[in-house]
Amino acid sequence: MAEFDLIERIRRRAAARDDVALGIGDDAALLRPPPGRELAVATDTLNAGVHFPADTPPEAIGWKALAVNLSDLAAMGATPAWCTLSLSAPAPEPVWVEALAEGLLALADRHGVSLVGGDTTRGPLSLCVTAIGHVAPGRALRRDGARVGDDVWVSGTLGDAAAALRAWQRGEPVPEALRERLWRPTPRIALGAALAGRAHAAIDVSDGLLADLGHVLRASGVGAELAIDALPASDALRAALPAAQARRALQAAGGDDYELCFTAPAGMRAGIEAAAREAGVAVTRIGRIVAGEGIACRDADGAAWLPPATGYEHFGGR
Ligand code: ADP
Ligand code: MG
Repeated sequence: MAEFDLIERIRRRAAARDDVALGIGDDAALLRPPPGRELAVATDTLNAGVHFPADTPPEAIGWKALAVNLSDLAAMGATPAWCTLSLSAPAPEPVWVEALAEGLLALADRHGVSLVGGDTTRGPLSLCVTAIGHVAPGRALRRDGARVGDDVWVSGTLGDAAAALRAWQRGEPVPEALRERLWRPTPRIALGAALAGRAHAAIDVSDGLLADLGHVLRASGVGAELAIDALPASDALRAALPAAQARRALQAAGGDDYELCFTAPAGMRAGIEAAAREAGVAVTRIGRIVAGEGIACRDADGAAWLPPATGYEHFGGR
């Protein structure tokens, strides 16, 4: 398939917002950012065999490539507006490319995001999406804002995607609900926006709760205590793994959740619950910020709980 055909297929399907002065087709897109807002820019690459199994359906690959970036904008409390797609593929079939674009653009449409450009090359399957959004100056949710005494919260449920991936890799049947969480994560855009001005710090959970919360703690110069049995689990995860002990590692360190982990002062609890209602997503209080460093996990009996690993890291080591 010629590169031009491929770009033309994507261009025809992409909807343009009013604030796109010039979209796909020229040397650069021209965008009109809302006056008085800060731009928020996030880029993440998904490589076949590293970030998704190579036999993932193309719709899911497209959806996820945008979802992980919208999740980063959500974690900043930013409103997404535009994105670009840099696609490397070995020898893409037209139906395959249309399916990939369909997956990405279905999620883009859901959040009113315009695909405004990109790049297309031949090579190993890899997608690099850049998502651009905006936020009121000074209102972004940063990693360095956690303070001693804050509650630690997490949205939605944890461990579903990791459970799906593990079953898939073991050749076991993957429950549909868990597989959907792996293939089509839901970026918590509305929650992130509602938390801006209420939460002190936030991050999205991509590499596992402990690893990602660890980034917040290091940036903020604080530690945390977590109630390991408070981590929210879906009905599907409970059904797949009835023993709490079997769920904990996936929930604490599994990754690919794309939930928001955030901290807020205890006096803000009603405000956080209100933000969650506005956004239509559950939030759970899972611990608190303390002086010091690192994360201490305790189970419901008060016993220390040690994680088997603290999340996926490229190139290993710290
Ligand atoms: P250039 O050589 O100037 O980089 P390209 O041929 O790479 O031009 O791209 C032509 C146009 O198509 C540009 O506007 C670019 O942003 C867009 N484009 C290329 N690949 C993609 C893609 N995968 N998704 C969206 N837009 C793309
Ligand atoms: Mg190019």
